[in-house]
Amino acid sequence: MFTLRVMENFYCHFNFFSNHKLRLFGIRFNIFVLLFSRIKNYHTKREPLQIIFVTNFVTNIGKMKIQSFNICNFLVDGGAMFGVVPKILWNRVYPADENNMIPLALRSLVIETGNRIVLIDTGIGDKQDEKFFSHTGMFGGEGLMSGLKNLGYKPEDITDVIHTHLHYDHCGGGIANANPSGFRLVFPKAKYHVGKAQWESAINPNVREADSFLPENILPMRELGALNLIEKEGEIAPGIEVRIFNGHTKGQLVPIVHLPNGKTVVFAADLFPTSAHIHLAWNMSYDVEPLITMKEKEVFLNEALENSYIFFYQHDHITECSTLHQTPKGIRAKDKLMFNEAIS
Ligand SMILES: [Zn+2]
Repeated sequence: MFTLRVMENFYCHFNFFSNHKLRLFGIRFNIFVLLFSRIKNYHTKREPLQIIFVTNFVTNIGKMKIQSFNICNFLVDGGAMFGVVPKILWNRVYPADENNMIPLALRSLVIETGNRIVLIDTGIGDKQDEKFFSHTGMFGGEGLMSGLKNLGYKPEDITDVIHTHLHYDHCGGGIANANPSGFRLVFPKAKYHVGKAQWESAINPNVREADSFLPENILPMRELGALNLIEKEGEIAPGIEVRIFNGHTKGQLVPIVHLPNGKTVVFAADLFPTSAHIHLAWNMSYDVEPLITMKEKEVFLNEALENSYIFFYQHDHITECSTLHQTPKGIRAKDKLMFNEAIS
């Protein structure tokens, strides 16, 4: 058959495809699109220029490098983290101090993929006054700059910053104070990706979220020309897709990283801030639409269980990563792991 013959030619010329054993849906999809281009070129006898792109794409995916670090820990009210869940339950898992506060981590991921270096979330930053920081209870962690340096990166190496959302603990590190009075991009060569719906919420905040959206973290991204608004779900860099969720806050981006070894890592952000939030009823009081959060979690957990996704918890100071399993009470976290063991 003509089509098959063309396909055979394709595999014959480009047998690296089978050698790479690419099993990821996103990658196969791209190969398929370019295979179609090859068929078209066969007809027209034109040079199959698109094939060159295929080669680069596959090579770059094969070189993906992903690393994690913890910017810092900070304290939040345990009741606010678990909403309607009684303290007697959550306190067994995340014991509170005498002020009812529990520690949260603030982890980030750095991903080298193709010619891009992508940083996911930037922590709290350092622009606010002493009074502000006296309420955050920050301690430990590597810091944003020194954490990146420890992994071998300079700020100007970063090509893309994905801000999952614009609550101050997720985006404050992307902008710094600059003399005499103003702001600068901490990652001067990066595009700063933000959900469009999130951006619109942040610049015109509702009463619930107003204290979490700090203008000095947000407006300079646009004023300094770095802002890229994401309207649709899909691939944002080779092997990295973003999904959009609206229950915690409108237009939250949840990055999903497809590793060359076939594993899939979900940067769980504030959709699943800790492994305890896998439970559908364990949600934060901060969520603007709790019922939407529960529905979004339910749908995504089924997909994640079916496809053996690994969850990377940004805020869980005890558990860095987990897989999922089905229990008689619903889907729960299983195999709590450190990041490097989870992805290897
Ligand atoms: Zn949040």
